[in-house]
Amino acid sequence: VTNATMRNALKYVDQSADPAKVCAGCLNFKPGPAPTDAGGCKIIGNDTEILPTGYCSGFVAKK
Ligand code: SF4
Repeated sequence: VTNATMRNALKYVDQSADPAKVCAGCLNFKPGPAPTDAGGCKIIGNDTEILPTGYCSGFVAKK
């Protein structure tokens, strides 16, 4: 399922324009079972299709 309202609010895209800023490298990402699997996001609630390659304005780099 996707949370269209929050995706739109944060301008989420499945493919980040910047390889250094992707969901897989974001503190808010909740990874799926495998590194390339879709997962979730702490600030885009009830969304199970966040891609590791994605990006949104809520990006916070992992330290
Ligand atoms: Fe991806 Fe944005 Fe969630 Fe970070 S906050 S995991 S960039 S959707």
